Amino acid sequence: MSWHADDALLEHYAAGTLDDARAFSLETHLLACEECRARTAPLADHARVETVWADVHELVDAPRRTPVERILVRLGVRDHIARLLAATPSLTLPWLAAVALCLAFAVVASRESDRGIAVFLALAPLLPLAGVAAAYGPWLDPTYEIGLAAPLRTFSLLLLRSSIVLLTTTVLTGVAALALPNVDSRAAAWLLPALGLVLVSVALTTWISAERAFGGVASCWIGVVIVARATSGDVYAAFDAPAQAAFATAAAVAAIVLAWRLKTFEAEREA
Ligand SMILES: [Zn+2]
Repeated sequence: MSWHADDALLEHYAAGTLDDARAFSLETHLLACEECRARTAPLADHARVETVWADVHELVDAPRRTPVERILVRLGVRDHIARLLAATPSLTLPWLAAVALCLAFAVVASRESDRGIAVFLALAPLLPLAGVAAAYGPWLDPTYEIGLAAPLRTFSLLLLRSSIVLLTTTVLTGVAALALPNVDSRAAAWLLPALGLVLVSVALTTWISAERAFGGVASCWIGVVIVARATSGDVYAAFDAPAQAAFATAAAVAAIVLAWRLKTFEAEREA
């Protein structure tokens, strides 16, 4: 190396008082010259270097909030709960996009044939059921272990997640239902079955595994739709007034059972 920076130049540089042109030229030299780098290091303002480094560290390492998490925080949900909720597989954008796609197909199908609305009605309750099932399982959920260790009690967390999944899927399905041909009261006939299926499944998970509870209830639903259609000859048989009353009753009973089971869990924990 033919020349080296003199002490005064390095001091000005370290203090930040060097003009841009000379600072750039010196930086080019510093990149190549170990000797001048070694002489600059002790002159640097260490507190400032620490601050800059901490900022860089924060920027690079800080976990990024997902869009769902940002919305939850904006709605006033506390940070750690928003993170646990946003990590729910069925509250992520890909999942919600998949639900929207399923609904779009069902709406298109309903416009193509007379029985279309029945297909939409049969499919709609399965979407929140799948979403809530995904919110449960260790087989799908990367934060399952964190959930277990979370300050929020595991079962309460599951219920909170399930409620939000139910809410988001219901809103999406409700919007899709408005696009059905000849919107009438039938377009809402999926609502009570959806609520009934989810609540009964969640209540069942307090006795049996989530796979069995959700899988069993989903199979029963598909069975009921097929059998009702086959025995009555009416594609809407599983959605008529008596069926709606049955689903409302099932939802109410499941909600009561769930409240009672939750109380029992709390009592057991405190004992
Ligand atoms: Zn040098």
